[in-house]
Amino acid sequence: MDISKILDYQNLDSELFKLEKSLRDNQNKKLAFSLQDSAKKAQERSGQLEQRAESLVKEIETVKKQFEIQSAKMKEIFAKDVEKMSKEEVEQFLALKDKLAQNLVILDKNLTKLAENVNAVLADFNKTRKVFASAKENYTKAKEAYDSEAKTIEPQMAEIRKKLESLEKSLDAKVMEQYKKRRNDNIFPVYVPLNSNLCGYCHMELPAVNISKIKDEGYITCEHCRRIIYQK
Ligand SMILES: [Zn+2]
Repeated sequence: MDISKILDYQNLDSELFKLEKSLRDNQNKKLAFSLQDSAKKAQERSGQLEQRAESLVKEIETVKKQFEIQSAKMKEIFAKDVEKMSKEEVEQFLALKDKLAQNLVILDKNLTKLAENVNAVLADFNKTRKVFASAKENYTKAKEAYDSEAKTIEPQMAEIRKKLESLEKSLDAKVMEQYKKRRNDNIFPVYVPLNSNLCGYCHMELPAVNISKIKDEGYITCEHCRRIIYQK
């Protein structure tokens, strides 16, 4: 088998492979993906914080109501004329007054705590919105940078593909099929030379029977890396 044509093809294809890889590994593309992820997370966090703020506001309303009820009770008690009470009633009255006063202190503390929580949630919310806005802005920049890089590379790739197509016409269909199958699996280079008695890519040692097979048929598939080994 004449290996030189497929080697020429592979040689040209390696330029395409490099360009494809440079697009795949593009830093701006990776950055855009990671910023997109950050923006999504910030948006989710904003939603959670909104819910948290809503539930805190409800809690505050409940505590305020309890506070009003207790205050009304206090007023009611203070309106009573102690002079007209029995000793027992006075003791009950004083105990109730203390209890109500305690309740009011507790409710007041709860309200303060809730107000602090609301402030913390609001601060977190504002920070998260800023993170979101900045991630979105930087995402747009990274995406634009990637798109413009891709725009310069894509015509080069199209040109190579066109040349490859025309080279393919003079190549054996079976050889091309073997080649493309590996290329699609990202096995590249597909053809590697025999290096004394080792695979030119993965350096696995070939048994003597395989080496003589290369001499007879011109090539053999490496059992280890699936590349096609040819005799130089
Ligand atoms: Zn190998």
